Amino acid sequence: MAAAVEPEQRAGALTGDALMHPWFAALRPYLGDIRLFDAHTHLGCGDPDGSCFGAAELRAALGVVDARGVVFPLAEPGTYAAANDRMLAAAELAHGRLVPFCRVDPRNGGLHEAERAVGLGAAGIKLHPRAERFRLGDPDVREILAFADERRLPIIVHAGRGIPSLGRDALALARVYPGAPIILAHASITDLAWIWREAAGQRNLFFDTAWWNTADQLALFSLIPPGQILFASDTPYGRTVAAAAVVLRAALAAGLSREQIAYAALDTRFLLPLHALLAGELEGRGAAEEARREFDRIASVEPRERVFDREGWRRLKGARELDPPGREVLRALWLAREEAARASDRPPFKVMAEQAMVEVARRRPRGAEALARVPGVTPPVLRRLGDAMIAAIEATAA
Ligand SMILES: [Zn+2]
Repeated sequence: MAAAVEPEQRAGALTGDALMHPWFAALRPYLGDIRLFDAHTHLGCGDPDGSCFGAAELRAALGVVDARGVVFPLAEPGTYAAANDRMLAAAELAHGRLVPFCRVDPRNGGLHEAERAVGLGAAGIKLHPRAERFRLGDPDVREILAFADERRLPIIVHAGRGIPSLGRDALALARVYPGAPIILAHASITDLAWIWREAAGQRNLFFDTAWWNTADQLALFSLIPPGQILFASDTPYGRTVAAAAVVLRAALAAGLSREQIAYAALDTRFLLPLHALLAGELEGRGAAEEARREFDRIASVEPRERVFDREGWRRLKGARELDPPGREVLRALWLAREEAARASDRPPFKVMAEQAMVEVARRRPRGAEALARVPGVTPPVLRRLGDAMIAAIEATAA
């Protein structure tokens, strides 16, 4: 086993974090008001690779960019119970900066340990198929997934190189256990070349950014919907500030807007505390089970494609009372509004209100100035449909 890192070197690493800070700070103007949430950090000193990292150092590393983060154990010899207890204790002391996940070995009492640790406050589960030598398709893993599905617990899976069928197994599990968010760590590097095609259709499949290669980061942001990418550093192997400087640049370079990045960040800033708050209230009222059923029902509704009815104008209030030229104008406006709505990707009612359309058809005012006096024909409506209205009215007058 390699020697553990000396305390002085660890302090040096934190100096390195501070030195990296300007590279992150330079991105601030592009990012808006976001607070980083690091989905992948470790604590522990028993890893066979010699890594050793303590809670105070992790808090300091996250603190450099005022980030919060998920923490789970590095590899441990034997069982994970003691290490998981250390995660819970570290989170307790971190005043909300750390969210503890438990790590379990499916072939060594994994389900039991997951149940125990979650009962004590672990918010998710880490699985490492290579270190613990199992496959995601194993029956022991299914039991853990079923538990996570029932309790809505995220499962983060080490998904680096050298694990055959990992992506295929993860996708199959995601389909069978839709209540368990499955996070493929390390940009799902082995399977990214194909699994992105399935990702957008599988809403409980997520990808973390804990990977060192910028080309792969660019591919990740180009292929995976931003709402399914989780910022992650793999601290202590990576560092939060260094990862933020690289990952956010990759996101911007791949074409994500400031709004898309802020949206992804705000998910973890507000949704986690809000979830805890609302879950507590529902439990208190004994309504958690009923609510869960209702949420499942809503989540399973498939959005239907809106079919445009070319004759839909006939059903508008006041359409029947129009004279024949009025009906002609309304019909033309109905079609023009649909076209404008499609072109600008807005719902039709946002392009022009229906009562305003009927009113224009009834009055048939000549010219933009007269049109502007019709209630509901605002300057934006005139800008969007003014030409179409004038043409439709002139056609009936000719
Ligand atoms: Zn890791």
